[in-house]
This record gives sequence, structure tokens and C-alpha cells, in this order.
Amino acid sequence: MASSDPAATSPEARDDDLLDKVINLTKRRGFIFPSAEIYGGFRSAYDYGPLGVNMLRNVKQAWWRSMVQLRDDVVGIDAAILGPPAVWEASGHLATFTDPLVDCRRCHERWREDKIDGVCPNCGSTEFTEARAFNLMFKTQAGPVEGEGATAYLRPETAQGMFTNFANVLTTTRRRPPFGIAQVGKSFRNEITPQNFVFRTREFEQMEMEYFVPPAEAEHWYRYWIEARYAWYLDLGIPASLLRRHEHAPEDLSHYSRGTTDIEFDYPWGFDELEGIANRGDYDLTQHSRASGVRLEYFDQATGERYTPYVIEPAAGATRAMMAFLLAAYHEDVVEGETRSVLRLDWRLAPYQVAVLPLSKKPELEAVSRDVLTRLQAHFMCDFDVTQSIGRRYRRQDEVGTPYCVTVDFQSLEDRAVTVRDRDTTAQTRVAIDDLLGELRRRTGQD
Ligand code: ATP
Repeated sequence: MASSDPAATSPEARDDDLLDKVINLTKRRGFIFPSAEIYGGFRSAYDYGPLGVNMLRNVKQAWWRSMVQLRDDVVGIDAAILGPPAVWEASGHLATFTDPLVDCRRCHERWREDKIDGVCPNCGSTEFTEARAFNLMFKTQAGPVEGEGATAYLRPETAQGMFTNFANVLTTTRRRPPFGIAQVGKSFRNEITPQNFVFRTREFEQMEMEYFVPPAEAEHWYRYWIEARYAWYLDLGIPASLLRRHEHAPEDLSHYSRGTTDIEFDYPWGFDELEGIANRGDYDLTQHSRASGVRLEYFDQATGERYTPYVIEPAAGATRAMMAFLLAAYHEDVVEGETRSVLRLDWRLAPYQVAVLPLSKKPELEAVSRDVLTRLQAHFMCDFDVTQSIGRRYRRQDEVGTPYCVTVDFQSLEDRAVTVRDRDTTAQTRVAIDDLLGELRRRTGQD
């Protein structure tokens, strides 16, 4: 009988090498590769490999499902990454989207002052230059001419696309507050010190939603979204012990914010931001109305009232969330006297949800296995693996978080049944091939 040791899997048992183990696993198994590796890499840029791209898509899909698909008050957009200076002038990013940059006087390394507690992480010196404001936006040229007229910026957040399209969405969808506009996509920040793997990179993906509300309801919706977003991480398997909500003190708020709460995750270096939920008041719509000359307001025909909605913004990182899901899911336990590493990912996030494993390479087994694969592929992301012993294949699937392995053996030719093995309990159950899809749908809560 296979057995697992729950004691070894509690969050308290997370070891000091967790970050290294997860980075190593993601590289070795094709989740995340350092970018341009054959040229020595490109600092802080990462490429998502065959398993990583599945998982990242699943994270974004789970967010889209909860924020757009299952609601009747939120719609999506996909806005341009390149934008004209006018947008960033109005949003305040040109003037204030800066981090305090200091140079170590001894080793000349550059640091973000608010992240180093006055001590150079490279040489230990406490002598720094005066901090200067370093703008984090990537500036580029659009078109073949150079000069101010051609300046463009890569967006440092997706949010401005929702504000600049506020009127377009309002008129084309006939929404009324409270309603939201959601977007998932790449953002770029010229971070002074990208660090901690994909936690802070210069190119990353965000999942943001701007929820436009009557001003009197802003506080209610701000609290609502803090709880809704916190619940999303719990629902996808992050234990409550690794999550907390941190409300910023009034004196720490950004100039536009009337309230900000971070959902924090307990990373190997301690609690740090996973997502921020802010009550941005009417700052963004007012700024863009003024700068563009286009009224960004809501006119309520029923009451004859015209007002600028307030905005509640849950802003999450897709790549950062994927890292948190990986860290929370990584466990080592003992099965049949052997230590295994296992990613206990929710089935909705796992790169492969089912692996079909013919016991041997015999053609008649492969034929049945391919039939099983075809039946499942339309419903689940499936892997098909014929190499090495079945025990080794189970371990390989455990390591990448595949919740179910379906093994096709010689008896399957006679009884038209297969063995379903559960990643977490390692329990094995015989299931008729004709019932397999229904069984897996039941186990994943879809039926
Ligand atoms: P920080 O203070 O850590 O630089 P922030 O508070 O400026 O981050 P936001 O502007 O609120 O971050 O961005 C919303 C979310 O986008 C963050 O909670 C995070 O998940 C993600 N994010 C922001 N910057 C990065 C980055 N450089 N790399 C990866 N994800 C990021």
C-alpha cells in the first residue's frame, strides 16, 4: 500500500531551500527558462516552456473565469501595449512613477533605496549617494523618425487602457455603475533591482480590473473586492496560513488612493505583495477628462444625475501569482519508502490534468491508450508518456502536479477498463473506459 506522510507536507515544514528547489524544478521540467540562455541569459527575463505556458494560461483563465465569465457586471478588453506620452502625462506616471535610486559609494552597485534597509546587499557598506527619482517606464520610438513627436512608452500597468476606453465601453455595452472592465496582459517596468525569480521582473503579466462605482458605494465595493480576491487564492489551493491582508496606513497611501490593501503571500523571504486592491476615487477619470477634453462621466437617465464614478482596482500579477501557486504547492512526502516531490496544484492550474500511460510499448496497448487519450483531450489538457517504468512515470507526473494518471495495462484489452491513480492519495481505482470521462469530470467537480 502506498502511504503518504502528512506531517512532511504541512506549511511549517517548508524548508530553507524551497525557492531553489522550485526554481530548479521549473527549469528542469520545462516550466520557466532563463531568457536567451544560449547567449548567457538576459537578466530578469524569463521564457515560459511547454509546462509553464500551460500553467500560466490556467492562472489567467481561472482569473478571467472568476472576474468576467461568472459575472454579469464585468466585461473584458485587450488594449495596446504601446502608448503615447499624453496618456502617461495625464495618469501621473511621467511625473511620479519612480523609485528612489541610490548608488553604493563603495562598490557602485545601484539599489532601490526602500528595499535595502540602509545596507548595501553586495558589499555591506552603509554609504550611499543621495536618492534620486528613477522613472520605471520603458521609453521607445514609434515609427522611423526620431525625436519627441515619435516618443512612445511601453505600458507599466494595464489599468490605463480601461480608463481611456471607459467611454467606449460604456456606450458599446450600455453598462451602468457598478460595473467593471478587466484586462490581462503584459506590462513593463524598468525595475532597478529585479529579483527573486519571477517575483519582480522587468517584463511581466498583470490581471487587472477597474470597477466603476457610484462614489457613495466605493467603500462597500473596496471591502467586497478585498474579500473576493482573497477568496480566489484560497479557492485555488493556497492555504490561509500563507496569505494575509495588509491594509496600508493613511500616511503610506499613493497620492491617488483613498485606501489600499495588499494581499500578501508568505514567500520564502517572508510576507510580500501578491496583489493590491485600491480605492482610487475619481482620480483617473478626472485626470483623463481634463487632459483629453472628453467627459468621462456617467449620466444616470433615471435620476438625471451626472457623476464621475469612483474606481476600485484589484491589480494582480499573473506571473507572480503563478510563482505563489508553485511555492504553495511544492511538497515532499514519502510514498512506498521513497521520498517524492509533488506539486499539489489545483487541477485547474496544473499544466497537465491527466496523463495517459500505456504500461508497455506494445502496439495493441498503444492503440487502446490513444483511444483513451482522444476521449479525454477535448476536456482536459493531457500528457501521453510511454517511456520508463510506470513508477518512474508516476513520480514524473507528481513532480509537475498532474492530478490524475490513467494507466492502460494488458487487462485493459480484456475488460475495457483502466487504472486511475490520484496524485495526492496515490490511491488507484479501476474504471471502465466508457465511464472514464464521467469519473474524471466528477472528481474535478464539473459534474
Ligand atoms: P512594488 O511596490 O512591489 O514594486 P507595486 O505595488 O508597484 O509593486 P502594483 O503597481 O500594485 O505593484 O502592481 C500590481 C501587481 O502587479 C502586483 O501586486 C504584482 O503582482 C504585479 N507586479 C508589479 N510589478 C511587478 C514586477 N516587476 N514583476 C512581476 N509582477 C509585478
